[in-house]
Amino acid sequence: MRTSEIHRRWLDFFAKKQHEVVPSASLVSNDPSILFTIAGMVPFIPYIVGTEKAPHARAVSVQKCIRTNDIENVGRTTRHGTFFQMAGNFSFGDYFKRGAIDFSWELLTTSQDEGGFGFDPEALWFTLWEQDEESYQHVTEVIGLDPSRVVRLPWEESCWDTGQPGPAGSTGEWHVDRGPEYGPDAPSGRVPEWPGTPDAEDRYIEIWNLVFDQFLRGEGKGKDYPLLGELDQKSIDTGLGVERVAYLLQGKANMYEIDQVFPVIEKAQELSGRVYGADAEDDVRLRIVGDHVRSALMLVSDGVRPGNEGRGYVLRRLIRRAVRSMRLLGHTDPAMPALLPVSKAAMVESYPELEADFPRISDIVTSEEEAFRRTLESGTAIFDQLVGDVRAGGGRSLPGDDAFRLHDTYGFPIDLTVEMAAEAGLAVDEDAFRSAMSEQRERARADAAAKKTGHTDTAIYNRLLSRRGEDVPFLGYTESSVATTVESVLVGGALVNSADAPADVELVLAATPFYAEAGGQLADQGRVAVAGGGIVEIDDVQKPVRGLIVHRGRLVEGSVAQGTEAVATIDQDRRGAIARAHTATHMVHQSLREELGEGATQAGSENSPGRMRFDFRYGQGVPRSALEQIEGRVNTLLQDELAVTDQQMPIDEARALGAQALFGEKYGDIVRVVSIGGDWSRELCGGTHVDSTGAIGSVQLMGESSIGSGVRRVDALVGLSAYRFQAKEHALVSQLSEMLKVGASEDLPERVASMTQRMKDMEKQLAALRGQQLQAEAGKLAEQTVDVSGIRLLAHDAGEGIAAGDLRTLALDLRTRLGEDAPVVLALTGHEDGRAALVVATNAGARDQGLAAGSLLRTGAEAMGGRGGGKPDLAQGGGGEPARIPEALSAVRGALAEAIRA
Ligand code: ATP
Ligand code: MG
Repeated sequence: MRTSEIHRRWLDFFAKKQHEVVPSASLVSNDPSILFTIAGMVPFIPYIVGTEKAPHARAVSVQKCIRTNDIENVGRTTRHGTFFQMAGNFSFGDYFKRGAIDFSWELLTTSQDEGGFGFDPEALWFTLWEQDEESYQHVTEVIGLDPSRVVRLPWEESCWDTGQPGPAGSTGEWHVDRGPEYGPDAPSGRVPEWPGTPDAEDRYIEIWNLVFDQFLRGEGKGKDYPLLGELDQKSIDTGLGVERVAYLLQGKANMYEIDQVFPVIEKAQELSGRVYGADAEDDVRLRIVGDHVRSALMLVSDGVRPGNEGRGYVLRRLIRRAVRSMRLLGHTDPAMPALLPVSKAAMVESYPELEADFPRISDIVTSEEEAFRRTLESGTAIFDQLVGDVRAGGGRSLPGDDAFRLHDTYGFPIDLTVEMAAEAGLAVDEDAFRSAMSEQRERARADAAAKKTGHTDTAIYNRLLSRRGEDVPFLGYTESSVATTVESVLVGGALVNSADAPADVELVLAATPFYAEAGGQLADQGRVAVAGGGIVEIDDVQKPVRGLIVHRGRLVEGSVAQGTEAVATIDQDRRGAIARAHTATHMVHQSLREELGEGATQAGSENSPGRMRFDFRYGQGVPRSALEQIEGRVNTLLQDELAVTDQQMPIDEARALGAQALFGEKYGDIVRVVSIGGDWSRELCGGTHVDSTGAIGSVQLMGESSIGSGVRRVDALVGLSAYRFQAKEHALVSQLSEMLKVGASEDLPERVASMTQRMKDMEKQLAALRGQQLQAEAGKLAEQTVDVSGIRLLAHDAGEGIAAGDLRTLALDLRTRLGEDAPVVLALTGHEDGRAALVVATNAGARDQGLAAGSLLRTGAEAMGGRGGGKPDLAQGGGGEPARIPEALSAVRGALAEAIRA
């Protein structure tokens, strides 16, 4: 039965029982405190709680729902979607328990020919509150349900309340038993969902929850509150999962295979070339795609737009997870333009409004995918560079702070970094990543704390500044080394007369060439050599109060005392690289404004050695063509060797010249204006720059992305870093051209496309051959079983090139050959592309002895570092290391022996 038909039958059934048909409310309500509509009863809450009078005594709806807390379950259980439809019938002071139970029984068990759902009454289980005698009697005596299939539960497991004093009630839930293929029998009177085991949850599926709003509850924590008495107006609210009924009635294994979702999975198979059912991990990814594409479609249809907070963030996360899953499936081109229309076509029968609105929906979803792809692209370029660096240094693992930077700056989730690193043959130092994450949280906390106690912290610096009477002169525009005097020494934030190595110190100098971090330009580093032999390695320079420059570093040799003479020298390579990045930033800024209009103003920047980042206000993504224009323009102007000059002038004069000022920055009366090429670019800026654009060498834009509403970010490599990147890409292209024997690199894409096609064809042939070969071997293998306490066990490693799909075919073949003369357990392994696979199968005789393929498999898969699961008759797993296959097989043997003993 089609899902839309279940929807229709539901409304018809209850309409005939005098229920007012209420259309689904939007997924987002007017109440901003509720993120999404999570249940059918949400729009009816005022009638249930009694704050409003219900306009009808009976109502029925099929409500669109989003449950984000089920997101991790998607694709892993059989029954959780982020979007799903909850069918509900409601009574406000009208019929109560008996009526609700009668209606539900009638609809579930009436044959499909007569308009019902046609469930086998013998497959239905009912759970209820142990003290709800009325329902118990009604279900067992009037309906006639066998008491062994009625389960009585304590209040905590069967109640409903709103989390605060007010109405509360017990619930009754209908479950469908899918039969022994899906798990062991439940003990009489007990659906083994308590405590939940995956096997049991696969077998006994909760489909319909009836809530009996009967009591008034008092104050209390959690489920521990008194029931104060009965409500004046008792209500019924129920929720049936339309998708769950759909997969049961459609004979599918899970809700992702129903008519409203599976077409998307089919499309994803087509795009990615992966086959659903062949690999457990791929299957999860395909199901995630099916689910998330549909949820995105429905959310955008209800007016949600991708964003960084609240509802928008949920939508963004869903789209990104879908895109990422497609990538992990091997499909790196845009996917949404192909997937979204398929999802729409599957949903439009129930939601006709999707048709007219589709161009808008599609626009929003595809541009979000585009934005994410660009993020991935620029991040991926950086990622490749980091991987190159690690390899060049002979390392095997990506440092945690690199992973952290990818996360922090490029929005790379850690699991994505791990996957990509694994593909490049590297591990990721996840512990260091996590500690960088917690350091960041610490810093944020410390910053917040410092802001609160800022007065005491800066008091000492204010004193030092007033003692010296004027600002510390910064001589670094022209000098890289300055002979000066140590004015003050601080250790641990306190003033000291002198310090001895080793020590972390802060120095105030009478004059300095060191640039203190400001305006996006990172601080200089270098060293201060103190008379008498003291050496301080400076790694950070800050202005904790305006006018005072504080050098932070480590005293590595000798001592440093107040009043000593010293020579302060900056690291010129670092400074040069930073200056190139800073001038490049001004040039990118100006070119952006030329290309995108005056509105594209600066929102922030960072100039570090060899790299720049520029944030600007702009309402939409910058097209690739515009980025190319900008990059071309900047590089042309580099070659023109434009002079970079600076001038001090009153702020009014600077404004009159059209100098760009950073919003929110405070300037004194006299400001510094940095100009490039006369009046081509003019900005108020205190930073250090190159003298001529020619010194920059090269600027390579790495990508553009959104970093918040209306703010975009471009990243670029500058100078030698840009050259190295280009050289590496060029070397790669040459190497590829040579390997693939194409004359001109332009022919590469076509050659790769034709090779990929050939490879696909060959894989198909190979798979067919492998199948034949396995079949030929099966006869021999069938004779190689060993006896383990009366069980015929075949534990066999099929070796290289054999994946899970082949193993499954072989297992089924062997099981048929071995027949039912004796209990049989098969454990087969193989490996392909460095991934091990394991399949376990049992025949009926083995299952009668309590042997379940699923649990034997889990033991085996864990032993080789993989995972998996399945049903009692057939289970599959993988992802482990091929070298550990023998361990997996002996673990299965061990588990088998143990199970027999037990
Ligand atoms: P479960 O324990 O299986 O997650 P639940 O107890 O959270 O379900 P209820 O809150 O009782 O579910 O919701 C009522 C009905 O809605 C359920 O009986 C089920 O049929 C359906 N349902 C709930 N969550 C989902 C979901 N994430 N996807 C599909 N259907 C769902
Ligand atoms: Mg429930």
